Amino acid sequence: MAKTKWAYFFGGRKAEGRGAQKELLGGKGAGLHEMTRIGLPVPAGFTITTEACAQYYGAGNRWPKGMEADVRASLARLEKLTKKRLGDPDDPLLVSVRSGAARSMPGMMETILNLGLNDRSVEGLAKLTKNGRFAWDAYRRFITMYGSTAKGVPREAFDVEFKRLKMETTSKRIGKPAGDTDVNEAELRELVAAYKAIYKEHVHGDFPQDPWEQLSGSINAVFGSWMAEKAVTYRRVEKIQGLKGTGVNIVQMVFGNMGADSGTGVCFTRDPNTGEDTFYGDYLVDAQGEDVVAGIRTPMKLSELEKRAPKVYRQLCDVRTLLEKHYQDMQDIEFTVERGTIYILQCRSGKRSAVAAFRIAAEMVKERLLSKEEAVCRLTTQDIERLFYPVIDPAIKPEELKKRKVGEGIAAVPGAAFGRIAFNAATAEEWGAKGQKVILVRRETSPEDVGGMHASAGILTATGGKTSHAAVVARGWGKCCIVGCGVLEIDYDKGTMRVNGRSYKQGDALTLDGSLGSIYDGELPLVQPRFPKEFDTILGWADEMRRLRVRTNADTPYDAKKALEFGAEGVGLCRTEHMFFDTEERRLAIQEMIVADTQEARRKALAKLLPFQRDDFRGIFEVMDGRPVTIRLIDPPLHEFVPHEGPKQEELAKRLGVPAEKVAHRVEQLHEANPMLGHRGCRLCITYPEILEMQVRAIMEAAAELKKKGRKVAPEIMHPLVIDKKEYQILERQTRQVADAVMKEQGVQVDYTVGTMIEVPRAAVLADQIAESAEFFSFGTNDLTQMTMGLSRDDAGRFLPDYVDEAKAGVFSEDPFQSLDQAGVGQLVKLAVERGRSVRPKLKCGVCGEHGGEAKSVKFFHKIGLDYVSCSPFRVPIARLAAGQAVAEERLAKKRK
Ligand code: PEP
Ligand code: MG
Repeated sequence: MAKTKWAYFFGGRKAEGRGAQKELLGGKGAGLHEMTRIGLPVPAGFTITTEACAQYYGAGNRWPKGMEADVRASLARLEKLTKKRLGDPDDPLLVSVRSGAARSMPGMMETILNLGLNDRSVEGLAKLTKNGRFAWDAYRRFITMYGSTAKGVPREAFDVEFKRLKMETTSKRIGKPAGDTDVNEAELRELVAAYKAIYKEHVHGDFPQDPWEQLSGSINAVFGSWMAEKAVTYRRVEKIQGLKGTGVNIVQMVFGNMGADSGTGVCFTRDPNTGEDTFYGDYLVDAQGEDVVAGIRTPMKLSELEKRAPKVYRQLCDVRTLLEKHYQDMQDIEFTVERGTIYILQCRSGKRSAVAAFRIAAEMVKERLLSKEEAVCRLTTQDIERLFYPVIDPAIKPEELKKRKVGEGIAAVPGAAFGRIAFNAATAEEWGAKGQKVILVRRETSPEDVGGMHASAGILTATGGKTSHAAVVARGWGKCCIVGCGVLEIDYDKGTMRVNGRSYKQGDALTLDGSLGSIYDGELPLVQPRFPKEFDTILGWADEMRRLRVRTNADTPYDAKKALEFGAEGVGLCRTEHMFFDTEERRLAIQEMIVADTQEARRKALAKLLPFQRDDFRGIFEVMDGRPVTIRLIDPPLHEFVPHEGPKQEELAKRLGVPAEKVAHRVEQLHEANPMLGHRGCRLCITYPEILEMQVRAIMEAAAELKKKGRKVAPEIMHPLVIDKKEYQILERQTRQVADAVMKEQGVQVDYTVGTMIEVPRAAVLADQIAESAEFFSFGTNDLTQMTMGLSRDDAGRFLPDYVDEAKAGVFSEDPFQSLDQAGVGQLVKLAVERGRSVRPKLKCGVCGEHGGEAKSVKFFHKIGLDYVSCSPFRVPIARLAAGQAVAEERLAKKRK
């Protein structure tokens, strides 16, 4: 067997790994290897694979066989290339040790910088750089990171000591409040001694001087951070599953904290909020990368860097162009400038707002960076969903806004939100779970806050820049976020804050405008945003590509109209029973029909419903203007329409003029132990053909009326839950009899079709028999999932999460009621289509279950040759995009071959 390779080297313009090896090397690792290959200035290093992490956990937190040898060999290679040695007292090699999984998990895992420093090498570094302050600053950072991440020393213990030194020693020396950069070498030496004492106190051992001990401890710390609670929570919230673990990148250190000609930055190659083609980001002079991400100091804009250090800025611009060309996407770059020379430490596809996602994809096609197919594939369901996020109602007068405005911060993520202030993540989670709107207010957020951030409607922090932890995480979720609001004075102990003289306590209401960075007192009304103009461009391309048609599930003319605006091409499911609930009058008529004990009495009640149904159908036909409209006859069990509580039954009896016992008796009669498998669907019309008669009459009368007015109509009459050919034939015959009678009465011919839903496994298996009569199939994948898997759609929610949660059972990667179970239910759909078309080659097949608006399922339906999907109006654009992507992916795969 070939020996497993645990470490991949990169450096000197060569790399053992490639960008495509994200699964093995993690995103960060793969990026470093790829950037090295394309000639970007990347410091040298090596990546320990995610497979090593998986094996580490598999073997009870021990390195897999052969890993130590690989790490030692890679380290030797790095030392040779850099001509420096780890721990060398004269010219030490220093490295960073960074995590990086296949999917980005910003800030969730550990990083250790300046590894290789010890009591001797720090002196060597000081001498070599002629900068003692820098060397000792690097050492104190290393002790902090190693101590806290590898050995569990509370970070605050170090922070408190640093603060004390600044306040008591440095401030006195300089005669004013001291910042980090005011602390001098002597003071830093003092600080390092104090840090080592703190370390010893907590770890009961000296800070390790042996570089190998430092390195192996750091690698273990990074491995360990993969299963840390915050990382596990993040993966659960983000639905990140199936990853092996984290990679570990050991990279030669370059220093942004070597004086005024050094610095560190994070930037995006385009504006991640608007998508504008402009360089966007933060830069901190004389600092290390963690300072930007942690948001401890508020950084300068790139435009300022251009003025202050034009040469550095130009280098950065070259990198930007090269990266966009190579990756054909907006990139998020971490870089360091060491004495005027730029180094790229990381690049990845940049997180962006939905508006930016559309704009960037469309503009990159114009710039010939992307093909239309690639652009269509760039967008996601979440990008579309995020466009539905609200903004403050523009109708609010500017004076009112001015009055309400309490402060301003950095606009990190657009959209608006209001809610009650929570000063900690636990409270935010608690209130969020109760369905309350929360604004999480923190001095700065850390990855520990991720649960609370997710539960909040908006996030506000006192420190940080656009790329701080809070901003990056919130942007990923499309969650309104304001950072760097320096005027916030938060008192966590008292649960209060002051902003520009106004006081707030926990629970008070605030509104955030994440697009402007403005903070307002109380709750302001919000409205939905307008779509970016590129939305239509991209969806237009998807429309040109797709073969699947997209219809909507709509029960009212209003919904149908909304869906048309979103691009629906017909109604795939009109659930007629929803129309029975609309008004008191309708409800009473259906209840009268149910309580009736003779066919005559039932017909009388149904006659009252007929005009309502006819009007509704006419409304929908009018809106759809000749597009197909599939109307399903009554589906739910009748007990759903009548009250179950005594007093309500008495009230109904009074209104219907019948004895209360009669109503109670009827409800009792209708009771079913398993209503979802009971007297429902087309079984109702087998028992009560008069219901079918009324509904078909209403459909055909509405259609005939419009037809006579010269309007186009295309009704498709659909029977739900069919299980047998004979059952279907009875229903079809009755349907045609009524339809023919209406056309004759009205003296007009209407083209209509009759078909069935396929929702029961038996119907799927016997699809060829049913297709002899049925003109179309519409797959009700909600019921088909329920009945195929034997999981109740109404009850499974209680235990299904365990089946999806990787930490518990992890049987399914997704909830099968949300994303189609392609291996099981999907195969039944495929089989039914094949069998149906074997007897009726042109059999029209669609889907109207929830899966019709879920991207992965839509792609599957494309693959198995359905004609259309149908979904709720707001999901229509999602289905259009996914149907376009299905074709685009096929084309791109063909091109690659
Ligand atoms: C289905 O079962 O997938 C369907 C569309 O019907 P309903 O959800 O109304 O049962
Ligand atoms: Mg159904």
